[in-house]
Amino acid sequence: SIILAIESSCDETSAAIVKDGQVISNIITTQSVHEQYGGVVPELASRAHLQQIVPVVDAAIQKAGISKKDITAVAFTQAPGLIGSLLVGACFAKGFAQALNIPLIAVHHMQAHVLAHFIEDPKPAFPFLCLTVSGGHTQIVLCHSHLEMEILGETLDDAAGEAFDKIAKMLQLPYPGGPLVDKHAAKGNPEKFPFPIPDIKEFDFSFSGIKTAVLYFLQKQQKTDPDFIQNNIDDICASVQHTIIKALMKKFEKAAKAYKITHVGIAGGVSANSGLRKALQEYGVKNKWNVYLPKFEYCTDNAAMIGITAYYKMMKEQFADMSVVPSARTQWT
Ligand code: ATP
Ligand code: MG
Ligand code: FE
Repeated sequence: SIILAIESSCDETSAAIVKDGQVISNIITTQSVHEQYGGVVPELASRAHLQQIVPVVDAAIQKAGISKKDITAVAFTQAPGLIGSLLVGACFAKGFAQALNIPLIAVHHMQAHVLAHFIEDPKPAFPFLCLTVSGGHTQIVLCHSHLEMEILGETLDDAAGEAFDKIAKMLQLPYPGGPLVDKHAAKGNPEKFPFPIPDIKEFDFSFSGIKTAVLYFLQKQQKTDPDFIQNNIDDICASVQHTIIKALMKKFEKAAKAYKITHVGIAGGVSANSGLRKALQEYGVKNKWNVYLPKFEYCTDNAAMIGITAYYKMMKEQFADMSVVPSARTQWT
């Protein structure tokens, strides 16, 4: 099989070619238009996808060294995401499938983030426990097989990536701030400014409290030192990152123990965070886990993960109808 996969759920336009379960091209373009607004502007995202989709798909096909008529199925992100952004990918995929008379595969974006672990070797064994940490979600996912997944816990308010980005904004860092917090944190002291770790039931998370705690802390410090942020940026970032990672790992370890799982991994944009990657490895040594870390290219949004998910769906003949429509929010599977 040769699958053309399209991802357009947020502010990345991406296309990939997956041949017999192997990613042979993966083109990702990130929209820079949002930077000046400090966050993604949905209408601008949709328009930028419209401009990018054809060149990005062309580039993926070219890089793969195939021609359009070799493609045997078209996959796209159906949900969740910004509706205007999803529509661009969905309409393009439908048109492409209809023109070439090939089947259509609808993919759930959060399931795809988890299955990014199956792009390259070594691939996790089942049962596999995945901590998905992205811009819109924070989930502990128990995978029984490639397509049978169970959400054990999730955030009750903000996502981990959202907390990184919102706190970065308070620190006057440009959007998206997560990677910049990571950079500053590497040079700072994580114990310098202690912030409280929320105590939430079971395997669920909460990040809005940390956000508020940082806001009040900064306001208080700036009363006596107007340059507090500039003078302490590395230590603030290190302390914030340390707190978010501790909150994540506390619940993840609890879930792994409760379900006696030894194959564990992280996924989603925040899984690119160097502190979180290091923490997972340290917890892995302590708990004798087999730890899986996705390549950076497959952490944030990309079409390769959509293509690999489509590959597993295709093997189970899970095709979509031409009547399929994208959805901003959907429960998966
Ligand atoms: P979702 O997948 O929930 O729909 P999304 O697709 O917008 O959301 P991703 O592209 O998976 O999210 O991840 C983007 C998020 O990852 C942003 O919040 C960004 O700040 C964060 N992120 C990326 N790299 C890092 C890093 N090194 N450290 C911390 N956060 C990071
Ligand atoms: Mg993005
Ligand atoms: Fe995502």
